[in-house]
Amino acid sequence: MPTRGDRQLRAIQQAKQLAALGARLKTIHLMTGLPPRQVQRLFFPDACTIPRGRAPDSAEWYHSANLILRTDACLIGAKYRQLRNQGLAASEALILAYRAYQSVTRSPYRISLDRAFNLVSHIDGIWLARTPALTVLTCPGCGCEFIAAIGTTIHPGEACPFCKLLERFHVDHRIQASYPVRPVISMAERQLGMLALFHKLSFAAEGDTPAE
Ligand SMILES: [Zn+2]
Repeated sequence: MPTRGDRQLRAIQQAKQLAALGARLKTIHLMTGLPPRQVQRLFFPDACTIPRGRAPDSAEWYHSANLILRTDACLIGAKYRQLRNQGLAASEALILAYRAYQSVTRSPYRISLDRAFNLVSHIDGIWLARTPALTVLTCPGCGCEFIAAIGTTIHPGEACPFCKLLERFHVDHRIQASYPVRPVISMAERQLGMLALFHKLSFAAEGDTPAE
């Protein structure tokens, strides 16, 4: 049974990790339970280094985000769901899912820790959200896990951003030729393969501007 001291120590360790990942004071406060003043005193001694600006709000963001942001969000959401199903606490699952996301993409990261916090709040109905508004579904078309509004009926390819990536892939035969199709071992690998493919397809050329 963890003691009060153990819990306090764990909260401080998580706060430190979250501060390093760029989280806002409020996010750190909600995830660890530590008072914002204490977080500030411990990890932002220089007030200039406190993340500022408007915090991500609303679950609606996901539905209007461009394809690159949605596929990024799905990587985080799928990993988070997987870790939660394995029994991890929400804060731990989010930190690990965000790190996993960082390990497969390049800096500057398009999804901020605060945005990821917002997303999983709406997936689990915790922290910022009273009830779940988003869910993680498995696409019957491509097998990838993706985020959708709760109550979404799956029609193959319709709501899944990874299928949309595949569509673009099929359109560009030149790129397709340089990517021999390999057997896929696991779902995660499939998603990562899609992501690698995505980086090859230049979405910038199509005028998608990341909103974050
Ligand atoms: Zn799909």
